[in-house]
Order: sequence, then C-alpha cells, then structure tokens
Amino acid sequence: MVKCSFCGRKKSETLMLVAGIDGHICELCIEQAYDIVQQEVNLHVSKNTGSEIDFTRFTPKSLKEYLDEYVIGQDSAKKFISVAVYNHFKRLGMKIDEDEVVIEKSNIVLVGQTGTGKTLLAKTIARFLEVPFAIVDATVFTEAGYVGEDVESMLTRLLQAADYDVEAAERGIVYIDEIDKIARKSDNPSITRDVSGEGVQQGLLKMLEGTEVNVPPQGGRKHPEQQMIKVDTSNILFICGGAFDGVEKIIAKRLNTQVIGFGQKGGANVDRDNLLKHINHQDLKSFGLIPELLGRLPVLTFLEALDATTLKRILTEPKNAIIRQYAKLFEMEGIKLHFTDGALDYIAKLAIDYKLGARGLRSICEALLTDAMFELPNNKSIDEFRVDKKFVQDSLSNTNLINPAA
Ligand code: ADP
Repeated sequence: MVKCSFCGRKKSETLMLVAGIDGHICELCIEQAYDIVQQEVNLHVSKNTGSEIDFTRFTPKSLKEYLDEYVIGQDSAKKFISVAVYNHFKRLGMKIDEDEVVIEKSNIVLVGQTGTGKTLLAKTIARFLEVPFAIVDATVFTEAGYVGEDVESMLTRLLQAADYDVEAAERGIVYIDEIDKIARKSDNPSITRDVSGEGVQQGLLKMLEGTEVNVPPQGGRKHPEQQMIKVDTSNILFICGGAFDGVEKIIAKRLNTQVIGFGQKGGANVDRDNLLKHINHQDLKSFGLIPELLGRLPVLTFLEALDATTLKRILTEPKNAIIRQYAKLFEMEGIKLHFTDGALDYIAKLAIDYKLGARGLRSICEALLTDAMFELPNNKSIDEFRVDKKFVQDSLSNTNLINPAA
C-alpha cells in the first residue's frame, strides 16, 4: 500500500504524495520539513550582513521634512520623534566604552485619538531609515504562561519583516499599538491576577530596555522542542501608541490642582480642547502604566485631533494622498479626475460629522467613485471626470454613510 514514509498516512488520507526512490512524502511532512530547514537556515544567518546606518546621513530637520511629505500636521509629534530617532541612531554609532557617558534608548510613546497618524508616523520613519518595521497590537499579549501570545512574538514579526536577517531586525522599529489597553485594571493588583495588563507591562520591561530574547521563529507560544532565534533588542526602537481615552480628565485634574496649589482662584486657564499638549509621564502613570515601563519610554508626545482643514489637506497633500491615488487610477483609463474645492470641503466635513476620521476618507471616496470606476472603462468617449459638492451629495445620499441608522 502506498503511504507517506514519514508519517505513515495512507494515500487516501493525504492531499498529495510525492514519490522518491525508496518511498513517499505527503504534503504535511513537506511543510514540516520546510519549517525545519527554514529554522536551521535562520539560525545561521550571518551576523555581519545588514548595512550600518549612518546617522550623519540625516538630521532631525531632514527627517521631519520627510515626514511632512506623508503626514499632515502633527508638528509637535514630528519634532519630538525626529530628535528621538536621530539620538537613537547617534547612540547606535557610539563606540561602547566603559568610562563614557552611556546614552540611553529613546523609545517613544505617542498619545492621540485613533486615526490621527500614529501608525503612519512610525511606518514613515521606518521607510526613511530603510529598517525592518513591525506593527503589533498590545492587546494580544498576556503574561507568560497564560492563554494568548508571549510578548516575544512581536520580535517574530520583526524577524519576518527582516526576512529573518537577524542583524537587520536588531536595528528595526517595532510599533506597539494600543499600549493604553494594557493599563493596570485596578489600583489594587492583588484583587485579581492582571495577566493581560500589568503582567504584560512587566513582560515588556526587559525587551524595551535591551536584552537578548529567544524568539520563536514562527511565533506563537514557546515550546521546548522549537529552535529559537536569539535577538538582541538593545538597538531596536520601540514606538508605543495609544488613544488613552479619558486621559484629558487626568491632565485637567492635575493642572487644576497645580494652579490652585499656587494660590490662584478659578482653576487653570487651560484650553480644554488642547489639554493633550500638557500631557506628561505622571498622567500616563495615573492612567495605569507602571512607572518602570514609563521609565523605558522616555520620549512622550501627543497627536492632535484632526479638524476639517487638516482632513481636507490629507485628501490631497501627502505624496500618496487618496485623491492622487484615484487620479492615477483614472489616468490609466485616459481620464482626468478633478475634485472641486467645494467637494473636498464637503468630504472632510462628512468625515467629521460622522466621526470617521482620516480612515473614513478612503471609504467616502470609494463610495463616491465606485460607480464611475465600474462604468468608465467601457466608455472611451469621456476624458474628464469632475467631482463637485453636488455630485458628492447626490452620490452619497443613498449610502449608509449619510444615514448611519439605515
Ligand atoms: P492611528 O495609528 O493614530 O490610529 P493611522 O496612522 O493608522 O492612525 O491613520 C489611519 C489612516 O489615516 C492612515 O492610513 C492615513 O492614511 C490617514 N492619516 C491619519 N492621520 C494622518 C495625517 N496626519 N496625515 C496624513 N494621513 C493621515
């Protein structure tokens, strides 16, 4: 009877059996063998490949200018990040000398509502620096030993992004999203085990600071038989982001207390909408991040909420702006796509009114242009397509966007 010479499954139980001189192998055993080969190869990746990053190649200013091409507004965050990244690479360029001043890592924490450009900033920096980049979600992690992912698995993603070039990964950037979701759940950690909050924060400490971590090459839980890849995180830049819903209240409270503390009457004279710009590490501690973690995230900056003017700029200004992308698609059909100013204002207003943020701009445009993109390839007589405010109103009047209750 023909069967897999490795696992013994009968031909009828396999998808395919590949014949060799003396036996057969099934598709599952091929996959397993492939994994083993991959792991072996990865373990022997030369430590001396990857190119050195030359920090003289850029300055904080040139990095910010690059960010300006892709990310609209958020000047304060861009400045903080540009300096932090520049210092990070200066630090990489330093010779390790026992007597010298040791520059500590400048991991970053970004605070701002969802869809304000946190991930985009991190991604754009990685592209500028030409280093591997991974985005991970803090909510999937649990304390080691519990159901969920170990924090080490974020390095699996980075390794994958680096095509398993360990040295390149060791200079990469990891963006940890939703860091606010692992805030300590209660003030009294002894009440319940906080395996997905404080436990994860504890798990992150060493990694953020810089240590050698055994990384499972295929992710998931570590298990004894799996071959691990050693990754040194000392030079990996970690950027954490989160919305920290409700942190404004903490800031307001702190500012009020401070001002009253100085003997002024009537509380702080602070613009409530702009409270975020006063954020400090103390506020994140009050929110539930442990001081040890905050100590490893020395650079703290905020992203502003996007107003209609900024959303309108996002539609057209970035190098790969949404409208530019559609214009390109239409151009490939020989059609010039034109949005009037009124149409752009209206789309931005819709995104605000329906709380869709920058992410919603694409879905609005998609809803707007789908009919045209369906019809126009069959209509060679049209060479221009004009989108004005009335077209937007008419096209979207029947969609769920305009009537979210529908
Ligand atoms: P966050 O990480 O803050 O939730 P993202 O960076 O993922 O938000 O942004 C979502 C999308 O919105 C991005 O793909 C980007 O196209 C757009 N976007 C958000 N903010 C900006 C901005 N300031 N400039 C340009 N595009 C932006």
